[in-house]
Amino acid sequence: MDALTDSLGRVHTYLRVSVTDRCNYRCTYCMPAEGMSWMPRADLLTYEEIGRVVGVFAGLGIRRVRITGGEPLIRRDIDALVASVAGTPGIRDVAMTTNAHHLARLADRLAAAGLSRINVSLDSLVPERFARLTRGGDLARVLDGIQAARDAGLGPIKINAVLLEGENDDEIDSLVDYFARWADDTELRFIEYMPFEARWHRCVPAAKVREQLSRRFTLAPRKTVPGDAPPGGIQGSGAGPARTWVLAENGLTVGFISPLTEHFCATCNRLRLMADGHLRTCLAHEDTPSLRDLIRGGADDPALADAIRAMVLGKPWGHDCGEHDGALFQGVMTGIGG
Ligand code: SAM
Ligand code: SF4
Repeated sequence: MDALTDSLGRVHTYLRVSVTDRCNYRCTYCMPAEGMSWMPRADLLTYEEIGRVVGVFAGLGIRRVRITGGEPLIRRDIDALVASVAGTPGIRDVAMTTNAHHLARLADRLAAAGLSRINVSLDSLVPERFARLTRGGDLARVLDGIQAARDAGLGPIKINAVLLEGENDDEIDSLVDYFARWADDTELRFIEYMPFEARWHRCVPAAKVREQLSRRFTLAPRKTVPGDAPPGGIQGSGAGPARTWVLAENGLTVGFISPLTEHFCATCNRLRLMADGHLRTCLAHEDTPSLRDLIRGGADDPALADAIRAMVLGKPWGHDCGEHDGALFQGVMTGIGG
């Protein structure tokens, strides 16, 4: 088996696949209110093309795949894609990141198709605020979706909350208290806002959140385990991406994904396949050529593997976007696969 190793010796075993750049929500930190230009549908990889690319990646050592977007649950028959990826020789784990709006209806089908776990984005427990942050989201539906996922055995469930200074950072305690009742199979992760194209919001540094929690709880560091990936594409020490702690008083695992203030690009093991077939070896770097163009131009699997190896070899060391300064991320999260 070939290992996908870059020039810094990082070995890549994890692929995030964005299946669409479209979404039924429009979270304020993810998309502009207006003026999104969607990828033409003909530009999106078909399920057959995604399946083929995943097969090539598996031959190169990718073992875990996360299906994301945009919103993956709005792409038709998404369970068929899950089944195809889960059935790819070499792939051991298929997970998904979703806003959960359609999850109550689909959780059983996804589990039956071979999905192992699910991450749900949820940034507020106040219905009106949730609707405002997501520009139209329905909190009750999302909470039902989370319960359906739990019932379908899609745990442990990770809840991703992007904290925005002055907008929802007063909910740190209420999010902890709410999810603590499912501490045995739920992890709450606080994510630093990453500015794409412009700084629309202010990030809340992970250290500040930990400090706030430490006033109420004893935080015991938990050794990270393989199993998930943050939008920042960042890997903590050990195999896991988030830095995780267990709150001694209620047993809840709390993760911190801090792409700006504590970034861990040095151990990043992930790659992103964009909905249009471009690979992003780093969240902050656009790679060429497009795998879709190669496929549609008649490339065979060894040629695709060569192109992937060359792009991975050229993966940059990381990004230099900071809390207040440095470069901004380019593009939109939805097409890249947050
Ligand atoms: N629609 C699905 C969802 O919301 O879970 C999957 C795609 S979404 C782009 C994936 C993750 O990226 C979500 O957890 C979301 O909160 C996060 N995200 C989007 N924009 C972000 C930003 N600017 N900074 C940090 N995280 C972001
Ligand atoms: Fe949609 Fe997810 Fe982006 Fe929100 S974060 S707009 S749910 S893709």
